[in-house]
Formats: sequence, C-alpha cells, structure tokens
Amino acid sequence: MKVLIVEDDTALATQLQTGLVASGADVTVCYDGVDGLFQAQELPFDVAVVDLGLPKLEGTELIRRLRAGQSTLPVLILTARGGWKSKVEGLEAGADDYMEKPFHIEELQARLRALLRRASGYSSELTAGPLTLNLTSEQFSLAGQALELTAYEHRILEYLMRHRGEVVSKAVLTDYLYEQDFDRDSNVIEVLVGRLRRKLAQADGFAPITTLRGRGYRFAD
Ligand code: CA
Repeated sequence: MKVLIVEDDTALATQLQTGLVASGADVTVCYDGVDGLFQAQELPFDVAVVDLGLPKLEGTELIRRLRAGQSTLPVLILTARGGWKSKVEGLEAGADDYMEKPFHIEELQARLRALLRRASGYSSELTAGPLTLNLTSEQFSLAGQALELTAYEHRILEYLMRHRGEVVSKAVLTDYLYEQDFDRDSNVIEVLVGRLRRKLAQADGFAPITTLRGRGYRFAD
C-alpha cells in the first residue's frame, strides 16, 4: 500500500510514517498543502492521510482541488477532537473518512485498509483467473498456492491488478515503485514484469499482462 501523508506536525507525521512503514506500507510525507496536492496529483498513491489545518493550502481546499481534477484517490482526514464543523467541511470537499486526534495507529491502519477495500468494490480480495490477492493478509496466491514475490514484484502486480483494463505506463509504475530520488531505470520495470510473467505462467500458462509497445502494460484476465 502506497500512502501519502500530508501533516505539518512533524512529530505526528514521523509517528504515522514509522507505524505505517512497520506494517509494510510505502510512505511519502508532505508538510504543507501545496506540496501535498502536487504529490497527490502527480504520483500514483493508493490512499492519502490529510490533516485539515495545513500551511500554504488548507486540507479541505487540497481535497476540493484534487476532486475537481477528477482524482478518486481515497482520502482520510485528520481532525481535532470535537471539530465537527471542519469534519463536515472535509467530507463535503470529498474526503472518504476521518479520524479525530489523538488516535491509535492501529485504528488508522484498519481504516486505511477499509478504504482500500471500498476502492476495490468492498471485496476482501482481488481475483483474476487463478490469481488472488487477499487484501487483509496482503498475500497473493496462484491456483490456490501461496505465490512468492519480492516486494517490488508484489507492488507492480497489485498496481496492475487494481488498474485492470487500463494502460499503465512504465513511468507510472516507476513512480509507484520508487521514492522520488531513486535512480530511475525503466529497464528494471521490464525485468520485474518479465519475472512476474514467468511466475504467473506456472498456472497453466496464465498470461494476464500484455505489453503495449511504447505505451506500457495492461492487465486483463
Ligand atoms: Ca496541522
């Protein structure tokens, strides 16, 4: 799960980041609304955690602009306890869920997983032919057997599955895979997709990933 955190309280941001990374998430932190909006628009995240009181651009305005740009990124807002008015404004701006501060990181994680399940049609798993991704355990299985994948292979396969039927460019996959400063090399994506194809083909030649020359990849079952 690739998570964007927009929170100007650096101590809280670090605490969130540490907790989410420990549970296997890939986390990017922004400390103001302008940077947060930019990241949310430019990079492929699975879910965003947005504080409402932010410098440069308020959280509600960030969400409003994100939604005005047709983004369906699931957003959970962080609000002050008892701040019902800001909560309502945040939800009306297009947030999907909220949590009052202070909160337990475990509850936040559960809410984020629920948002992801909702984004995948309330299912507890994603399936494509013999391939299943259990959204609770975050484990892939192929023809009923656990499928062993590296962290990068897992991320690519999950992203393609979540965007099935769409053309996904190598640039988007690279953004999804790496932190911004990573030395990007699109050959790495080709190698990873090649390895994924070989692993998936073990199930009677299952071949859900198509290459569209010069455009990217498409997952279809
Ligand atoms: Ca704040």
